Amino acid sequence: MTTKRICNGCGKELCQDLGASMAEYLHVTKEWGYFSRKDGIRQEWNLCEDCYDRLLKNFRIPAVSTEMTELV
Ligand SMILES: [Zn+2]
Repeated sequence: MTTKRICNGCGKELCQDLGASMAEYLHVTKEWGYFSRKDGIRQEWNLCEDCYDRLLKNFRIPAVSTEMTELV
């Protein structure tokens, strides 16, 4: 698949040429269910690392960070 991924936060093109395992961005697919206000709607979006950091700064409770000793 050669579809270009764009960061939904800032519009920047996300690096593809590094290979899927090296591409450092967040991809989210969410299928909203019956009890949500978006019943039956699937949303997909990407965030680059900069936008990801900005998002996390808005969290009231910080994300849990764990240092990985071994990179897979
Ligand atoms: Zn971005």
